[in-house]
Amino acid sequence: MTRKLWNALNQLEDFLSGGFSREHAQIEVREGAPADRTAAPDPAALLAAVADEAAVCTRCALSIGRRSVVPGEGSNRPPVLFVGEGPGEEEDRTSRPFVGAAGRYLDKWIAAAGLVRAACFIANCVKCRPPQNREPHPEELAACAPFLARQIGALQPRAICCLGRIAAHTLLSTSASLGELRGRVHSRAGIPVVVTYHPSAVLRDQALRAPVWQDLKLLKTLL
Ligand code: URA
Repeated sequence: MTRKLWNALNQLEDFLSGGFSREHAQIEVREGAPADRTAAPDPAALLAAVADEAAVCTRCALSIGRRSVVPGEGSNRPPVLFVGEGPGEEEDRTSRPFVGAAGRYLDKWIAAAGLVRAACFIANCVKCRPPQNREPHPEELAACAPFLARQIGALQPRAICCLGRIAAHTLLSTSASLGELRGRVHSRAGIPVVVTYHPSAVLRDQALRAPVWQDLKLLKTLL
């Protein structure tokens, strides 16, 4: 797509989606090695195996307080895998990711990016709700990491979008700040990764909406 057409689409999108910034930063895309999207022959079976194992997992203390396990949901061949931190109360009750207030806000981001939620895949770093929605502890993240790694391998998304610091740190094995990680394309197992704020953080601080829109536009350049 030419830069001119891209800019025109940006303006149209801003107009249609309303509320996001109308400023357009120049986006630098660092090309990552393209992932082999045919690598997982039967993603449905691989994902089902992850969900089945997670459903009876007792690898960490989060299993004690959970009402349900929230493995993730969406298309088996998604353009984007969105990764959050861990289930909240609503997610724990329904066994579905991002269905509470943060989820409804994420749905708006997905639509604003021209994507369809059901065509993407949405998962979390930990599959069980941390008590009182506290951050997952390092040992909990480590215990759950193989599930997410297997999901990525099965899904082979065109891009991954990390929602917040915990997801970024977990997927990119870094402790850099969100400020350092945003605005460039990282790579996880050959799949391009974009980092943005967590929807809950943006609900608390509306000043973060404009940077999120920049991040979503960067994400779109990868699809
Ligand atoms: N926050 C997350 O990080 N994940 C969810 O599924 C819901 C809220």
